[in-house]
Amino acid sequence: MTRWEEVDDGHGTRWRVDATFLASSWACTWGAGCPGIGDEPAPELQQGCCSVGAELLDEDEARTIAALAATLDPATFEHHRHATAHGVVREADAGGLATALVDGACVFLNRPGFAGGPGCALHLGARADGESPIDWKPAVCWQLPLRVEREAAPGGRVLATLRPWRRDDWGEGGATMHWCCTEGEGALVGDRPVIESLAAELDALVGPEVRVELRRRGVGAEPERPRDDP
Ligand code: SF4
Repeated sequence: MTRWEEVDDGHGTRWRVDATFLASSWACTWGAGCPGIGDEPAPELQQGCCSVGAELLDEDEARTIAALAATLDPATFEHHRHATAHGVVREADAGGLATALVDGACVFLNRPGFAGGPGCALHLGARADGESPIDWKPAVCWQLPLRVEREAAPGGRVLATLRPWRRDDWGEGGATMHWCCTEGEGALVGDRPVIESLAAELDALVGPEVRVELRRRGVGAEPERPRDDP
């Protein structure tokens, strides 16, 4: 059973939080065995979920990402030539905007063997500038595997649900993904609960007061046990 906790943030939002997931030992295994989200496992590509690019929130986020891309050091941005020539934003198949794709993955994803280091060039750029990747990466990238759904509540309030991504959140491709890292036990490999390992991300999403209240209620204090539902 999933344990849900509800916490008011004091600013008009009531958070409904999947406490079971926050107490779990989920950890992103990009570069450490993640087989990606294609139909077949391909850990050697080290593409993780970057194979589909990142959906962008709106034109503002697209402009921010494009501006940041222009500041990246080519030494740590493998596809900077492509980015300069073709841009880093595309029209997504499902509508809206997304990061461009190069050879089957996000334009920002440096591939294995790249001298400047594999992984997200925006992440690397933020770290090189002593800043948080949260301030540089598309929202969906730093929030994943956490997902927030907001709905109007009586009295002008908001009910916000925080839960892990599910297979059906990935759209049409979700049905044939050979794995979904937030389902099952494949990514329960962390050495501490999510509420600790993703504390900065939670602070940015729900605020530190809500996170601290969840800790006060014991979320993450109990030994991990596998989820028994998706
Ligand atoms: S979030 Fe999940 S699918 Fe994406 S890289 Fe990490 S482990 Fe792989």
